[in-house]
Amino acid sequence: MIKKLYPEGKTKAFNVTYDDGVLQDKEFVQILNKYGIKGTFNLNSELMKNQFAWFHDCGMVVKRLSESDVKDLYDGHEIASHTLTHPNMQGMSAEQILREMSQDKDNLENIFGTKVLGFAVPFNYYSDLIAECAKIVGFEYARTSDMSGGYTPCDEEYYWKAGIFHLSSELESYIDVFLETDEELAVAQIVGHTYDFDAERNWDQMENLLAKVAADEKIWFATNLELVRYLKAMKNTEVTDDYIQNNGKVDVWFNVNGTVHCIKPDEKVLINE
Ligand SMILES: [Zn+2]
Repeated sequence: MIKKLYPEGKTKAFNVTYDDGVLQDKEFVQILNKYGIKGTFNLNSELMKNQFAWFHDCGMVVKRLSESDVKDLYDGHEIASHTLTHPNMQGMSAEQILREMSQDKDNLENIFGTKVLGFAVPFNYYSDLIAECAKIVGFEYARTSDMSGGYTPCDEEYYWKAGIFHLSSELESYIDVFLETDEELAVAQIVGHTYDFDAERNWDQMENLLAKVAADEKIWFATNLELVRYLKAMKNTEVTDDYIQNNGKVDVWFNVNGTVHCIKPDEKVLINE
C-alpha cells in the first residue's frame, strides 16, 4: 500500500490566502503567527503608494497599508502579486495585462527584497490570456477567483482554485470535514479579505477555527507557493510496484506499507523487498 504524503510525513495541507493588503492584515498576521499557520498575501503595489481607501458596504472605511507598514509585517508568509492597480482585466490587451503583472512583481520584489512568484487575479474575471501572461511574466502559479469547495489538490498551476471563501456559510463544515477526511494529499485553503473581519465582527470565529486546524498534528502549514512546488514534485515522481523515483526538485514523502519514506531529488527507493 503506497500513500502520498506531505513534508515530514503529514497527510494534509492547509493555508490561507488574503487579498488587497489592508490595515486589518496586521491583526490577522499576528493570529496566524500565534498558531504557526502560513498565509499568502496578494498585494497591489501602486495602490499601496497612496494608501488607497474606499467605503465598504457597511459604511466602514477600508484602508490599504503603506509600503512602510508592510516591510516586516508579512515575514514568514508569502507575498504574491494581485496586479499593480486592481483592474477588472476583461477586455484588456496582453500588453496591459503584462504591465499590470510585471510592474507589480518588480515593485513588490524591491519592497520586500524577495522573489514574488505567485499571482492572484483581482475581481472575478479570468481567461486563457491572463494565464498565458502569468507564465510569460514568470509566476509559478496563478490563482483564479473560483473555489473548489473540496480537498483535492488543484493540478493546474495557472488555473489555481482555492477551497472556500471565508464568508461562505459552509466554512465551518468545510473545515470539520477536512479534519476528518483521509483523502490522499487533502488540502484546505481559505480565501478572503481581512477587512471583512471588522465588517462582520467575526474575528473570534475565525481565530477559533484556525486554532482547531492548528491543533491537528497531521497538517502541513505551507504558503501557496510551497504547496504548488510540492505538488509539482509529486507529479514528477515515478511510482511503480517496485520503486519510487523522485524526478522533482524537492524532497517527496510517501507511506509504503506503514513506513514513512522521505525521497530526495533524483533518489530512487526500492519498495518491494
Ligand atoms: Zn482584490
